[in-house]
Amino acid sequence: MSKNLDILAEEDQNRNEAARIKYFDLVVQSGSGATVTDADGKTYIDLLASASAINFGHCHPKVVQAIKDQAEQLILYTPAYFANTTTAKLLDRLSQLTPGDFAKKVALGNSGSDANEAMIKFARAYTGRPNVVTFTGAMHGSTYAASIASAISLNQVRKIGPLMPGFYKAPFPDSHDRLPGENEHDFSLRKFAEFKQLFESYVPADETALVLIEPIQGDGGIVKAPQEYMDLVYQFTRENGIVFAVDEVNQGLGRSSTMWSIDHFGIVPDLLAIGKSIASGLPLSAVVGKAEIMDALPAPGHLFTTGGNPVAAAAALAGLDVLEEEDLVGRSKSLGKRVQEYFDQAKLRYPCLGDVRIYGLDGGIDIVDKDGQPDAQLASQIIFRLFDLGAVMITLRGFILRFQPPLVITEEQLDQVFAMFDQVFTEADDGTL
Ligand code: PLP
Repeated sequence: MSKNLDILAEEDQNRNEAARIKYFDLVVQSGSGATVTDADGKTYIDLLASASAINFGHCHPKVVQAIKDQAEQLILYTPAYFANTTTAKLLDRLSQLTPGDFAKKVALGNSGSDANEAMIKFARAYTGRPNVVTFTGAMHGSTYAASIASAISLNQVRKIGPLMPGFYKAPFPDSHDRLPGENEHDFSLRKFAEFKQLFESYVPADETALVLIEPIQGDGGIVKAPQEYMDLVYQFTRENGIVFAVDEVNQGLGRSSTMWSIDHFGIVPDLLAIGKSIASGLPLSAVVGKAEIMDALPAPGHLFTTGGNPVAAAAALAGLDVLEEEDLVGRSKSLGKRVQEYFDQAKLRYPCLGDVRIYGLDGGIDIVDKDGQPDAQLASQIIFRLFDLGAVMITLRGFILRFQPPLVITEEQLDQVFAMFDQVFTEADDGTL
């Protein structure tokens, strides 16, 4: 294991420990739109969207119909070796949907983790360099390289080591780490200096294949990197021949009010990973990127027998139709404004609310104690109480409420959620939770 990863694992230790809380017992029986119903018939508003994997709503009738139709026609003829009409359509669609007007390739897989693994392989093959730089607090998946590329605690390192060589971490520019009085410009420069320090101390830039980032960290707490920082990092990769890749598995497909979270920054990445919501809950992932990079590892360099199977591809095509027809990206933006307005007011009323970050239907809501310090215990009580009242929500890093409803949530449902929040935040501040 690299020394750099060792040091930063210590930093990740606390947040991983804090995140290890027990959730309420929910046994889901069915889902529809933005709600789920449990085995006893109680219905909840879903503020988790199955970990942002159900952006287009639970069991959308168009998606369900497409799955049924495809299953009657062809379930699998391994796309690793031969084309099928449905998967071929998806390849075209994904090329069109992603930023960049260069020649593109698409590689399909079964999970967000394997998409990130693929990007590591493509970047190494293309550059002929070994090193991979990711960020503290990142979530890139649970397969081996993806775990190591993610926030990993020393406990985990001890259990699953030895780790793969060539992985390094830069400190993510997490707004929680801003110094008192530090403005965004100074913060960006300080964090970029730390990023460059990594290359000066541990990993020569000309031996680095890949910089992989979630422009808005999901599991890291719904935290958006500053524009200036992203510009500097991107520029650094251009100057040093490093592949720049974004992980859109959690934040893509309209979640943060734009199609991709990287769209907020006006940067066109070399490689982009898609997963979670793409097939409305069926296993499917994709890497879309520059053909010249992906051609460096031709088939069978990265193939999965069932990756991009026609049933998942049919679900994806129908889901992308829904995304367009129901203008879910626009919806994420307009409903997100309402959420922002709610919290602008709520922050004035409820001292338990700390920093609140809302980007479309994507929110990280910090819960704090009377001294303004992160309060994981209170956050846990809040989500248990919301569960009683009829909403499913979980925490990130222990103290952050994760707000990621399906993008089809209605205004009426949002109003119900705000009423529940009002009740629970009042109880949290009264000490009656
Ligand atoms: N990347 C991000 C940003 C994620 O949030 C996740 C899962 O939470 C993954 C990758 C891994 O995806 P999967 O669980 O489909 O392997």
